[in-house]
Amino acid sequence: MSTQPIYFDYAATTPVDERVAERMMAHLTRDGIYGNPASRSHLLGWQAEEAVEDARNEVADLLGADSREIVWTSGATESNNLAIKGVAEQFAPQDCHIVVAATEHKAVLDPARYLEQKGYGLTVLLPDADGVISAETVAQALQPNTRLVSIMAANNETGVLNPVAGIGQVCADHDIWFHVDAAQAVGKIPVNVDDWQATLVSVSAHKFYGPKGVGALYVRRRSSLTLLPQIHGGGHERGMRSGTLATHQLVGIGTAANLVSEHLADEGQRIATLRDDLWQGIADLGDIHINGGQAPRTPGHLNVHFGGVDGESLMMALRDIAVSTGSACTSASVEPSYVLKAMGLSDQAAHGSLRFSLGRFTTREEVDQAIHRIRDAVKALRTQAKTATT
Ligand SMILES: *Cc1c(COP(=O)(O)O)cnc(C)c1O
Repeated sequence: MSTQPIYFDYAATTPVDERVAERMMAHLTRDGIYGNPASRSHLLGWQAEEAVEDARNEVADLLGADSREIVWTSGATESNNLAIKGVAEQFAPQDCHIVVAATEHKAVLDPARYLEQKGYGLTVLLPDADGVISAETVAQALQPNTRLVSIMAANNETGVLNPVAGIGQVCADHDIWFHVDAAQAVGKIPVNVDDWQATLVSVSAHKFYGPKGVGALYVRRRSSLTLLPQIHGGGHERGMRSGTLATHQLVGIGTAANLVSEHLADEGQRIATLRDDLWQGIADLGDIHINGGQAPRTPGHLNVHFGGVDGESLMMALRDIAVSTGSACTSASVEPSYVLKAMGLSDQAAHGSLRFSLGRFTTREEVDQAIHRIRDAVKALRTQAKTATT
């Protein structure tokens, strides 16, 4: 057995691709391009600015956007905050109603609830049993003062895809701004901001083999949209997000975006095959279900409910396989996943669920090994549970 743990937690974060790290390293030290991209008076500044603008083009290309529509941020958490608070805060609270889904990441739910506390209107939509928010559900929630709808493209726990193009159509019909948290979609499925009719789209580099701590917000160039900055000082990023641009980080996200653009279809196919084989290898254990399994999903996600097994215990038994119970962001607490609960799972079923997420560096050997380990662990835990109750 290999001593390296098997990494099945690509939805929590991905390792930086070596090709990305290499290019980042050329933008840090004295022998590289270390200037401030905002320095207009010398070559090192111009070179850094060029590197940053190349990255902007690469990210824009991946989203089907114009480079002038990309605002750099520190990640999807900041992008979501900028999108939601940046739209809402230009209205008086009583003049602004927001629609989100109960299955959104905390980086959408928390800003939305923060605004609700300030008096803004908020509707939190429940998904169907597969975790999907339909365009119909969104349409029914709209009010005369609805200003923003925020629905994620792919869920971080289940990988389930929402019909964002349909939801975008509903928003366009009502002239309502549409924000999409695409942190789990970019790099996994084709993303096109025009197909989605999205006004705002959040992106995070570390979910697609770029570095942590950098992301982007797509902001549609449309005269009716102004976005209030959440970070002031210096007026970078056309006033929407101040702060010295982190050249190496941006080269990182740009290179990662470029690699994704080249390989998206092949890579998705390969990962989905491995993911499906993992499922086929354990499906006959009995009393086991894919959470959201009837809906379209990202290629790498497999969120499984194991009947008669506690997820924490199973995770412990699978010590050298890195997986998550619920989402990584809530794994500090033992609360059952609110995403699975919104889909109608009981506390017990949510606690009995594990998320396996595969990615670029997952191998056939790892999948085969994991199948053996999971089978043994589930059988052992179920036998234990039986002898404990008899
Ligand atoms: C990871 C993730 C985020 C947070 O992104 P950061 O760049 O880590 O701040 C937000 N939304 C979703 C759906 C995510 O998967």
